[in-house]
Amino acid sequence: MGLNIHNVSVSYGAGISACHAVRAASLYLKPGELGVLIGPSGCGKSSLLRAIAGLQAIDSGDITSHGRTISRAGLLVPPSQRGVGMVFQDYALFPHMNVQRNVRFGIAHLAAAEQARRTRQMLELVGLADAGAAMPHELSGGQQQRVALARALVRQPEVLLLDEPFGSLDASLRGRLAAELRTILQGTRTTALMVTHDQSEAFALADTVGVTQQGNITQWSSALALYQQPATRAVAEFVGRASFLPVLVKTVQGKPMLCHALGCWPAPAAAKIGQNFDLLVRPEAVVIDATAPVQAVVLQRTLHEGCWRLMLQMADNTQLLAQAPLGLDCAVGARLGIRLLLQQVVAFEARRNGG
Ligand code: ADP
Ligand code: MG
Repeated sequence: MGLNIHNVSVSYGAGISACHAVRAASLYLKPGELGVLIGPSGCGKSSLLRAIAGLQAIDSGDITSHGRTISRAGLLVPPSQRGVGMVFQDYALFPHMNVQRNVRFGIAHLAAAEQARRTRQMLELVGLADAGAAMPHELSGGQQQRVALARALVRQPEVLLLDEPFGSLDASLRGRLAAELRTILQGTRTTALMVTHDQSEAFALADTVGVTQQGNITQWSSALALYQQPATRAVAEFVGRASFLPVLVKTVQGKPMLCHALGCWPAPAAAKIGQNFDLLVRPEAVVIDATAPVQAVVLQRTLHEGCWRLMLQMADNTQLLAQAPLGLDCAVGARLGIRLLLQQVVAFEARRNGG
């Protein structure tokens, strides 16, 4: 049950000029769960949604929705028979139909009374109960997007796909609509997969977040796991802010440890003595402490959301991102004592190994 995407590949064109937009992507959503895909532009997010919607055939793998296979190589269940709804960034409402008719459009096959009942219910759910007679051009962008949402949900899809649904709205409205979307989807218990380029939106909304890179879903897990236990260096760099501390594997009291002047931490199982690793350091792990023996110089300082963001440089030229309360004396050039307080030890084999 739920939505299961298993090893799905999508390409455009054929032969040497083929563009492999999605490469062996897999993800799973339980019924009623909301998943969000983030990733750089051009990495195949829209192609994957189009494949789930049935607008795009897949080369390999399979897509199963609520127990039914809807795509595999050679099988493409038509979009209208998938129980999948879609909301795009550009609202795509019919400009010549009022709000009510836009919403009813997808359920024209039902009895008139049922159409009216469901339409009323959906417009209430998206907070537009009084706007049924309005024309799309009379509505704000946020209202139009809510109509698009009502139009998709009125068909009671098993799966709702949202491709950057708030992409063209301003930041404060985005935040509000995103929170509303979450409530609405919980109300209808719809399984949903959304694409956004806004990480904080993804983290605020999603049960599960996927990082998409070059057609792959490199990690599919909770927001917390993505942040604290990124599976690859690329995920670590893409999610949140990261710096890397160069550490050397040494034997300390008989155990292999990742060592630096700032401390020693347990090495990954596969680490060999003498090997170089890069230890992931999130800004909040850098503790500014006047009594700490290791010092760093403030290279850059910017104000961000009520605290200082600092770029610090240590004696070995390593640069670390840190944050500090506004009251702290930390102008550019200042020398600060620092230590690390790591919640999790995450280290990647250094590129400098073997030259
Ligand atoms: P995203 O949504 O992550 O920005 P897309 O799925 O739109 O990525 O695109 C992934 C890759 O596939 C890009 O290289 C893009 O140029 C290519 N692509 C997307 N749609 C088509 C198409 N209809 N024909 C050919 N190439 C396409
Ligand atoms: Mg896209």
